[in-house]
Amino acid sequence: MAYDKNNVFARILRGEIPCKKVHEDEHTLALHDINPQAKVHILVIPKGAYVSLDDFVTKASAREITALMRAVGKVARDFGLTEGGYRVLANCGRHAHQEVPHLHIHLFGGQPLGRMINPPKK
Ligand code: AMP
Repeated sequence: MAYDKNNVFARILRGEIPCKKVHEDEHTLALHDINPQAKVHILVIPKGAYVSLDDFVTKASAREITALMRAVGKVARDFGLTEGGYRVLANCGRHAHQEVPHLHIHLFGGQPLGRMINPPKK
């Protein structure tokens, strides 16, 4: 998957599309998902142009990686998710149905979340 500089998160980062921002720091932005799949559904994205988790962990600096992980934890705490628990998910590539080619970490919570994944059809 190639990086498309006009993907929706790149456009949000450039301020071309509005978003419901919940956190921002030097390396990271967090926003409400436009089509929430749980009571709380937030996306945490790096500001750098990384297509996927694989791209990010092979090319990003230690500072960027640390910032992204810390932001996920901070947003979860800010939204009161730590006690009840939450789920963090990153779709990477075709089998995971990644739709937007800019790394985004989904943060789900605020309710029981059920099983981790749908078992694949045999
Ligand atoms: P994925 O299937 O992991 O690539 O997920 C892409 C996510 O981006 C979906 O949950 C969408 O609802 C979300 N999304 C798409 N456009 C926007 C937008 N403009 N603002 C916030 N979330 C969005």
